[in-house]
Amino acid sequence: MSVTDEVKQRLDIVDVVGQYVQLQKAGRNFRALCPFHSERAPSFFVSPERQSWHCFGACGTGGDIFSFVMKKENLEFAEALRLLAERAGVTLAERRPEEEAERDRLRQANEAAAQFYHRALVSTKAGQKARQYLEERGQDLKTMQDFQLGYSPSGWDSLCQHLRERGYSDEELVAAGLAVEGERGLRDLFHQRIMFPITDMRGRVVGFGGRSLPIEGQEEGQPKYLNTSQTAVFDKGGLLYALDKAREHIRREGLAVIVEGYTDAIAAHQHGFANVVASMGTALSERQVRLLKRFSRDVVLALDADTAGQEATLRAVEYQDILGRDIRVIILPEGRDPDQVIRSDPEAWPPLLENAQPLLDYKFEAVSSALDLSQPRQRSQAVEELLPLLAAIGDKIVQAHYLQRLARLAQVREPVLHQMLLRQGRKQGRRREAAAEGEAVATAPSGSKQEEFCLALLLRYPELRENGLALSPDLFWYSENRELLQAWQRCSQPEEMRQAIAESLEEHLQRLSKASLPPPQEAKAKLEEYVDYLNKRELKAVAQANIAALADREAEGGPISVEELAAAAQASRSGSLPEEIGPEEVSETAALLRQSTEIGIRLHQSSKIEMGDEEGLT
Ligand SMILES: [Zn+2]
Repeated sequence: MSVTDEVKQRLDIVDVVGQYVQLQKAGRNFRALCPFHSERAPSFFVSPERQSWHCFGACGTGGDIFSFVMKKENLEFAEALRLLAERAGVTLAERRPEEEAERDRLRQANEAAAQFYHRALVSTKAGQKARQYLEERGQDLKTMQDFQLGYSPSGWDSLCQHLRERGYSDEELVAAGLAVEGERGLRDLFHQRIMFPITDMRGRVVGFGGRSLPIEGQEEGQPKYLNTSQTAVFDKGGLLYALDKAREHIRREGLAVIVEGYTDAIAAHQHGFANVVASMGTALSERQVRLLKRFSRDVVLALDADTAGQEATLRAVEYQDILGRDIRVIILPEGRDPDQVIRSDPEAWPPLLENAQPLLDYKFEAVSSALDLSQPRQRSQAVEELLPLLAAIGDKIVQAHYLQRLARLAQVREPVLHQMLLRQGRKQGRRREAAAEGEAVATAPSGSKQEEFCLALLLRYPELRENGLALSPDLFWYSENRELLQAWQRCSQPEEMRQAIAESLEEHLQRLSKASLPPPQEAKAKLEEYVDYLNKRELKAVAQANIAALADREAEGGPISVEELAAAAQASRSGSLPEEIGPEEVSETAALLRQSTEIGIRLHQSSKIEMGDEEGLT
């Protein structure tokens, strides 16, 4: 038996979840107000039979004890496993010592490279241009030392030679992300760049960012910034630049400031603003937010007019639910970055922070000042821009606040906006709140075998990559399977994936890799069948919850009969909701009915397949 199975067998999900939420018996199940979003009627269910939980409300997701604890405690799978294994009295095998030793070697190679680059910057003729470039931008020798800045020389393989002399093998140099196979053998990855060593939280060098210099003879078409690619020790989306230096300050000040570039963070630290980290050019990732949350829930984003764009802010709105706080933003003057602002006038930085605005307030102001709201068409545009942001808010109270505000701004009645919001929410893959009755969970099919078949197919057949990338992890209810899918989606190579997963999942991965499967020509059709099944399982669970919720409403003797509401739902689907259907609960119920109908249709369309749970991996 695998460790995860053993833990699952020894712990009861009702006890585990019951530690965090007040569970009430409901038929064969337990129900509660969802701990992950705020709601008035309970839509969170725990099934002792299936040992699973499910939120049929805004979260629209579920899983087992591991995913519950991961979500509740903000843990990675391996951490949740450790915590629960301890509770269950199951001993975990430590990470294999030889594997940890390999990772140490890769970090040491990166550290040695950082020293090599640093020396090239501060004490060689080749590094003079780079030094000059940095000095012109206010970075003195002390800063170069503090951040171990460096310069990668122009030679074909000067770093490789240097590290080989120190006993590193070619394989290690490639695995460390420092060298690549070229036509003439191994070559350095970085040439003629200013080097920013990137460290993990403990300050160990795990990779580099390299900025090209405007130097004559520089190879054409080189990107301005080049990063170490993913290695066993470097995972850019899970790292924040300068966090090792900033973490204690962030904790002490109760505030983290996120800037975009290396030099932005460096300038801040140089001037004593030590709670600043950099997201390293890309939009902030969820893992970076979770990392920060360990030190502070208060986060300020320094955005320029570009990064304040729709897509990045949409994601940031979702992160607010992780932090449980508003993310605030400071918008920098046109065309200036934090580096320039701080260097030209350090005193200007603290007031900027003090005046940081909640992200959504900023968006509201930006939209209303850019549009002429006396024009109906422009008001419509305002709704179009702001509604997706509102739909991304998990907290219903906060959402209601901004919905009122949008209603005033757009001069539209709130129920109308609410309808649009529900539609938008579904589009964004969230499910509206729906109170559900107890029996729903227990009768939903299980389907762990189908999840495993999907994974086994993806692992075996690389040609299915695109199909696999499109899969939502929420479709996988078993944590082991969900974890493997997510790792598979992140990693393009099997070896990379093996490195990326928790050790406790290796056995499971191996079992799936060895499964006997249909031949390649049938693989795609098979995968589609299984995915169809998983989709259907999800739909069924929601449909059952909806039916129960409707029965509740009718039993309460709602404002009008279910038949009348069905007509209203029909009308609202065709876009002609009659004026007298106004009160919120009526439109909610109508939406519930409409959703049920839609689910019914989709279930009907997908009913061509029917698979039993008895089918297993062989
Ligand atoms: Zn929920």
